[in-house]
Amino acid sequence: MTGTDPYVPDHGDASYDVLHYDLALRYRPDSNRLDGDAHLLCRAIQPVTAIAIDLHQLQVAKVSGSPAAVTRWVQRGSKVHVTLKSPARAGAEFTLRIRYSGHPGTVASATLGDAGWEELADGAIVAAQPHGAPAWFPCNDRPDNKATYSFEIAVPPGYHVAASGDLESSVRRGSAVTWRYEQRAAMACYLAAVQIGRYTVRELGGDVPIHVVAPGDVGGAGFDGSFGRQPEMMEFFAGRFGPYPFEGYTSVITDDALEIPLESQSLSTFGRNFATGDWHSVRLVAHELAHQWFGNAVTLTHWRDIWLHEGFACYAEWLWSEECGVQTAKGWAEHYHQRLRELPQDLLLADPTPELMFDDRVYKRGALTLHALRRHVGEECFFDILTSWVAENSGGSVTTAQFVEHCSTRSGKDLSSLFTAWLQKLPLPALPR
Ligand SMILES: [Zn+2]
Repeated sequence: MTGTDPYVPDHGDASYDVLHYDLALRYRPDSNRLDGDAHLLCRAIQPVTAIAIDLHQLQVAKVSGSPAAVTRWVQRGSKVHVTLKSPARAGAEFTLRIRYSGHPGTVASATLGDAGWEELADGAIVAAQPHGAPAWFPCNDRPDNKATYSFEIAVPPGYHVAASGDLESSVRRGSAVTWRYEQRAAMACYLAAVQIGRYTVRELGGDVPIHVVAPGDVGGAGFDGSFGRQPEMMEFFAGRFGPYPFEGYTSVITDDALEIPLESQSLSTFGRNFATGDWHSVRLVAHELAHQWFGNAVTLTHWRDIWLHEGFACYAEWLWSEECGVQTAKGWAEHYHQRLRELPQDLLLADPTPELMFDDRVYKRGALTLHALRRHVGEECFFDILTSWVAENSGGSVTTAQFVEHCSTRSGKDLSSLFTAWLQKLPLPALPR
């Protein structure tokens, strides 16, 4: 295998980190044409002269470097191989500039499905988890390489651009409007996103600025039921998980129906089919918001640890359900424990395989693991574990082993048999009373 993670083979280069991405993009929705000018501030992890950058389907016009000049670059498959004139020693910083263009699409994978840039009827979205970031910008596609980002996206007038960061300005110059966003918190590249459409913006009240970016005709009771309670949800989750980790939060609702919503950092994307107000939509609004703590602020190091994202976001749905009187977390735990008992027990939660990474059993057994932990350590200790986990690891990358150790430290209990049974064995353990 090349690359750094067997779940997403051939992606990423472990010899360097990108510290900051400065992406200047120009996009034409009518022709799905993207022109990019990317500056990557990099730091060598080991002495390097040759590095690989992930970029899919788009054509590179030029690569240049500073302080070391680029002597050679070649684009082969979904990689740009760059050779520096002089070696960068371990710890040294260098900048690469990559100019590129083309018609972006998705990165296809037989095991992981398609992810990346998707054209809508009138606009585009990025849905990059887990392997789609190279579909729209040159990157070091490792989930544990977090960086800050500057986005500058020029689109024709009439379109709104939302991005996974804070809006700095939107300025019309000639025949285009340039939208500038900054992501100041470290972000894995699969969590970077831009969403482009004919949207209007609504601001919802609350301590954390929450915006909804949606077509003008999306509203009414269904919208209020699904998205209108996000300020309450935000306050509730902050009480359970600790302060919201970013400056603001945006929900984008596309005019097109989308099969599933998706989180990116400080921004989640839903189809208009989720503005219904029923529990299935509400739980997903809660789920994507909870990912801001679990997945986005605190991010897995290896994709095999996906339960650290999905199990936690699923459990957050149950907590919100309990809070708003739909059903208790205990009730959901019993319901899904019974359901899982009837399904094949051939999925190892701590290493589910790439094919089953997003299998619903990862979500539900992950949430059940947290419920079992809650029963075992008690209410106060359980939420102390969650808030301290986020506080200690926000902006960083984590593993399952670190979480297990964290739980033992905070609880003062030996939890190895509990976690071994839920994470490292196939049979479904009994649910603690
Ligand atoms: Zn999720």
